[in-house]
Amino acid sequence: MHEMSVAMSLLTLAEETAAGQGCTRLMRVRVEYGALAGIMPEALELCFEALTRGTAHEGAALELVCLPLRLRCVFCGTVFGGEGQEARFTPCPGCGEVAGHVVEQGKELLLREVEAS
Ligand SMILES: [Zn+2]
Repeated sequence: MHEMSVAMSLLTLAEETAAGQGCTRLMRVRVEYGALAGIMPEALELCFEALTRGTAHEGAALELVCLPLRLRCVFCGTVFGGEGQEARFTPCPGCGEVAGHVVEQGKELLLREVEAS
């Protein structure tokens, strides 16, 4: 399951970050993910909970923030937003082109903040 491996790497990264602050117990982890990162937040939350259950991090909150999609038209350079998978094929507001948009934001998966004690 994709979410399980994502949750595991996020947890490892969060643990390393906490350790760097001299902390051992995660309290809150904030993750930002792009609309096109292929993340299902509910599934990711469940995996995170399953992984932390029975560990020092049990009860740690996973905060998931979805970053809106931002596209740039390769033909005229217009930057515009969109929502969902189909948004990549939204006609460019500048020139009307429907293909060849560059995803400037939307594929990220970032560990943004770690609160630990
Ligand atoms: Zn354009």
